[in-house]
Amino acid sequence: MSVGILFSAPPAAWADYEAPLRRALAAEGLDDVELGPDVPADRVDYIVFAPSGPVSDFSAFPNLKAVQSLWAGVETVVGNDTLRVPLCRMVDSGLREGMVEWVAGQVLRHHLGLDGVLACQDGRWKPRVPPLARNRPVGILGLGELGTACAAALAGLGFPVMGWSRRRKEIPGISCHAGDDGLTTVLKDAQILVLLLPDTPDTRTILNADTLGRMPQGAVIVNPGRGPLIDDDALLAALDEGRIGHATLDVFRTEPLPGDHPFWSHPGVTVSPHVASATRPDTAAEVAARNIRRAVDGKPLLYQVDRTAGY
Ligand code: NDP
Repeated sequence: MSVGILFSAPPAAWADYEAPLRRALAAEGLDDVELGPDVPADRVDYIVFAPSGPVSDFSAFPNLKAVQSLWAGVETVVGNDTLRVPLCRMVDSGLREGMVEWVAGQVLRHHLGLDGVLACQDGRWKPRVPPLARNRPVGILGLGELGTACAAALAGLGFPVMGWSRRRKEIPGISCHAGDDGLTTVLKDAQILVLLLPDTPDTRTILNADTLGRMPQGAVIVNPGRGPLIDDDALLAALDEGRIGHATLDVFRTEPLPGDHPFWSHPGVTVSPHVASATRPDTAAEVAARNIRRAVDGKPLLYQVDRTAGY
């Protein structure tokens, strides 16, 4: 029996995904598929979905069995009342590798003071030896697929890494924490803090005047998680007062970041246009195909979103 798979993402993405998806579905033994952006609604069994694509009313698909997101962050779809079938988020090795590279790069930039080196090409010889990584505690809020991989990479470089998650984890080489006390423990020592939490009602503005105030003087924030994790005004105030030394932000409450937002002109902020990591079609297509195969076989789906927790 043919399996109907709607690809619902911005139209330009279909060219990138068609061949990888067909290849991956065939590799899973799914040869009889109707796949593409125009599958008739009543023949759609599964949707490969980007929130930026055309579908927002899932009730239009009477035979829908599951939705596979192409994005790791599902905050814009998790509360959609028309979605009555399982929703799976993207866990993709390409996404993970990209995030590890970006986070390691940003942490090393701040740790080594590379901005200062670049600003000092003025003919004056001013040696300044950076500290060793082992003397620079790094905190990571969110120890999921991405946070755990970044924690392991940073620990591998020698940084003492403290992580925080909803449920306390055991990860070799990482000091793991949970709960309010755990958050305080991480914040009070983190000279560099990486945010890799999802955007949920519980995580919104987790970095606010109070929590920023618990961090060491001059600490650096690196946020590739989601914009609403941070209270923008509180961050700007902490930067102005010098309590926070710098913030490198890849995600924002409004994207693209409006041209008149104070982050653009603040000397203590680096604006990065949501490029920390992207879903890679080759590896993401394999994840989608594997999950559709599991659904067809009646097996539990991988990476299913807990819609009560919001991620
Ligand atoms: P996961 O769902 O695998 O991990 C989320 C982590 O956050 C888990 O450790 C979870 O705890 C923790 N968490 C959730 N809620 C709370 C809470 N209330 N208190 C404490 N910890 C909490 O997500 P990923 O690692 O795959 O992705 C993380 C986020 O990264 C995405 O949601 C997305 O917003 C962002 N992202 C950004 C990209 C970019 O290019 N900038 C690209 C891809 C993702 P627990 O382990 O107990 O469940």
